[in-house]
Amino acid sequence: MNHIINAQKEFFLTNTTKKIAFRIKQLKKLKQILQENEPLLYKAIQADFKKSEFETYTSEIGLLYAEIEEACKKTKKWARYKRVKTNRLNIPSKSFIVPEPLGVCLVIGAWNYPYLLSLAPVVAAIAAGNTIILKPSELPIQTSNVIAKLINRNFDASFFKVIEGGIPETTALLKCKFDKIFFTGSVAVGKIVHLAAAKNMTPVTLELGGKSPVIITENCHLKIIIKRLIWAKFLNAGQTCIAPDYVYIHESLQKTFLKQAKTAIIESNYSFKNENYVQIINTKNFNRLIALIDKNKVVIGGDYDEKTRYISPTIVSDVTFEDTIMQEEIFGPILPILTYRNLEDVIAKIKSKPKPLACYLATNSKKIKRKILNEISFGSGAINDSVMQITNNNLPFGGVGESGMGSYHGEFGFKTFSHYKSIIDKKTWIEPNLKYHPYSNKKLRIIKILQNGIGKFKRKKET
Ligand code: NAD
Repeated sequence: MNHIINAQKEFFLTNTTKKIAFRIKQLKKLKQILQENEPLLYKAIQADFKKSEFETYTSEIGLLYAEIEEACKKTKKWARYKRVKTNRLNIPSKSFIVPEPLGVCLVIGAWNYPYLLSLAPVVAAIAAGNTIILKPSELPIQTSNVIAKLINRNFDASFFKVIEGGIPETTALLKCKFDKIFFTGSVAVGKIVHLAAAKNMTPVTLELGGKSPVIITENCHLKIIIKRLIWAKFLNAGQTCIAPDYVYIHESLQKTFLKQAKTAIIESNYSFKNENYVQIINTKNFNRLIALIDKNKVVIGGDYDEKTRYISPTIVSDVTFEDTIMQEEIFGPILPILTYRNLEDVIAKIKSKPKPLACYLATNSKKIKRKILNEISFGSGAINDSVMQITNNNLPFGGVGESGMGSYHGEFGFKTFSHYKSIIDKKTWIEPNLKYHPYSNKKLRIIKILQNGIGKFKRKKET
């Protein structure tokens, strides 16, 4: 590992990665490799957890292509010096901000969207002019293998290298010194990464998880909300970081909600035979999920098959915050329904928990929209929809508090992998003596006027 890191450091110091043409060439190359090998990518992920080509394209590969295309188009603009106004004290001079790459970056991926979550940060790191070591999740082993094979065959290790492995390999990597660590995964491992990074003062971006609520108010278009919610929850069999974790619905709507949700699930034809319905990633997670299902509270689904790691879309109702299912992020196809009478209680309850990665609100009320956005802190969200915010690259994607720190996608990704250097470029034809010794009251008065303006200075004097 040290050998590769040193090689990347050396390569970074040649300034090659800083050339815009180099960055764009690598991004185009990455896209071409993915395009030429799409069948291999689909085969691997199908073998790992039965994810279909349709879902892999729409929720991973297609989004990656969009990231790459945008970066190819805009990297030159993003990397430009940015002129800003100069304050009076520094006139005459120019002030500007110089984006610069951080250096050697470590990207650690999660398993649930293995292509997107490994390679979208890489796209941002390349666009920003860095070198990269990528450690994909070891759980979807075929997928990890195919990423490693394609990247390591086509890119020079001194620029971009994939290192496969699990906890021992990640632990070893975390002992090395990087210029940036970008981690996607659980809160528990996020803490390990943060601690390890602190030892080297390495900046981190942590894309973590948590319990993301869906608040459904009395005044909403319930039918369309349910259609969107059922899709978002059972996409990837609920194994989505920003999936709706639980529904918090006004008590007057619960009965109608359950009836319509059942119809929506039946219409989507989620069954053992539906080849587009995803498996649970492994037996450990399968068993964890089964243990969360309280049979007495199941109103829809609740069927499972250990051999195929299939769990049918399951809805449990009359759930309370004390139930086991409410003690951890579900990360599977089980949707608990909790009811409320008063929106203030909803806000207070959510605020008493760790800040969610996502929060969804179903309402037609402008007042409620504003109230929720103003009062609840969360990473990202949607009003009258779920999950779709991730597809808009003009929006930063990330968590807050325990659900993460930092963000990416589009220009936000570029910023995440850049340092913004502040520069004042002074003219040399004049040098006022104000700041120099000997100090005097007159000089101080002039400095105050320059800092605060004449108006403010006068007002202050009067008072
Ligand atoms: P995880 O934390 O178990 O694993 C993530 C990565 O960390 C993997 O590459 C793994 O090899 C490594 N790792 C695991 N244990 C480690 C340890 N003890 N020391 C060092 N490295 C270790 O997470 P996961 O199971 O892959 O993903 C599920 C979690 O990730 C969920 O909480 C989900 O919400 C979250 N997630 C967040 C996002 C996001 O963008 N915010 C996206 C996907 C998943």
